[in-house]
Amino acid sequence: MDTNSGLDVRYPGDPGFDEARRVWNAMIDHRPAVVVRCRDAADVVAALALARRDGLEVGVRCGGHSVVGHGVPDGGLMIDLTSMGAVRVDPGRRRAFVQGGALLGALDAATQPYGLATTAGNVSHTGVGGLTLGGGMGWLARQYGLTCDNVVSFEVVTAAGDVVRAAADERPELYWALRGGGGNFGVVTEFELRLHEVGTRALGVELDFPVSGAVPVVERWRDLAGDAPRAATYTAGVHDGVVTLGLVWVGDPATGRAHAQVLDTLGEPAARRVDELSYLELQTREDSARGHAVRRYWKGHYVRDLTRAAIEALLATEPGVRAGLQAYGGAIADVPDDETAFSQRQTRFEYVAATGWTDLDEDAARMSAARASAARMEPFASGVYVNALSDDGAAGVRRAYPPEKLARLTAVKAGYDPDNVFHLNQNIEPAAT
Ligand code: FAD
Repeated sequence: MDTNSGLDVRYPGDPGFDEARRVWNAMIDHRPAVVVRCRDAADVVAALALARRDGLEVGVRCGGHSVVGHGVPDGGLMIDLTSMGAVRVDPGRRRAFVQGGALLGALDAATQPYGLATTAGNVSHTGVGGLTLGGGMGWLARQYGLTCDNVVSFEVVTAAGDVVRAAADERPELYWALRGGGGNFGVVTEFELRLHEVGTRALGVELDFPVSGAVPVVERWRDLAGDAPRAATYTAGVHDGVVTLGLVWVGDPATGRAHAQVLDTLGEPAARRVDELSYLELQTREDSARGHAVRRYWKGHYVRDLTRAAIEALLATEPGVRAGLQAYGGAIADVPDDETAFSQRQTRFEYVAATGWTDLDEDAARMSAARASAARMEPFASGVYVNALSDDGAAGVRRAYPPEKLARLTAVKAGYDPDNVFHLNQNIEPAAT
């Protein structure tokens, strides 16, 4: 540990070094040369200066949930934001001030005592940083928009080491790019988020059906999803011969139950689960199923038309793979497409084929099963969520953004990071100048 500079710098063998480089996906074993545990924006500035001085590649780590381990450089300098996990709430102004290394659980825990919340993802150990910069899909998005739609301002450390603010009235191009363009434009040290009065209650409904003969059942579920109120987010999952159809409701559970009666028209399920739970329980209920220390792989798509053929492809998900659909629409689609870098707002469903295992010998088979499942869905895909990309490279980035948005993003990148210092991400290369 180097204390001379006042920076908390850790080298291989130092206490905490291995914990810092360990991420959610157990397949990732990246070994930085240096980890700088930042406590504030000034530390981030100093860390960037150190990387520049020593010619080190830079990685920025928040929740560590990038499935390909983008937060952790192999041999470079890791800007570790995990000590910057604080969330301050101003209930009167309905704002949360969230440090750049915070996890979603900290955000929800800080806001719920006031009955407030903003859109966050479905697993509480995910980082606010990566999730928000890519978009941020969660159970509140159909009511209040994506997480990025709720960012009032960002505090950012740029590649040049300047600490700047981006908001609607200040550096609007940067503000535009940070809402969906990922970690390409700087290190966000604080997110100012808009909060909403969502209360503290929720409801989850899941019905299991055998996949054989399920095509008309999924068609009916799709049609119901299209007409659903914004408090409801319809979900579907296929895993080892079972299709689970249902919804998540955020708000008064009695109203949710009344709405969920429409699911009775799907027919008699093999199993039915109806859970009344607190919003905080909803936000953590997938935490262990999608926990750490498991080898992981996924492939994603956006699906605009869930046609009969697309449903057949979904139902043909390979064994060992869990394919899921989560409905978009509502407030997500209200925002004009050119208002943020986030794209594909008119999509109806987000699809992800994911698999998790622990035995190294299964690596190849598991990954190819997820790829095969997603390949069947590809003909029906209209693009992809940048945070659902994995090892897709530049082709994936071109699927995440339409050409005109990518051109605008590369121009912003050229202004704020012309040397592509921040390239350990789904990378947007700077436009040639
Ligand atoms: P990290 O690996 O720490 O970072 C990911 C990328 O973001 C890296 O390139 C990193 O450099 C950059 N980055 C992170 N923080 C900052 C920052 N402060 N400033 C600049 N760059 C930064 N997505 C959803 O939208 N909704 C969900 O419900 C959802 N659920 C998920 C559940 C699980 C279990 C997992 C693994 C992922 C989930 N995702 C979800 C996808 C998630 O949004 C992405 O994996 C996201 O990149 C994770 O961000 P992170 O900060 O945890 O990861």
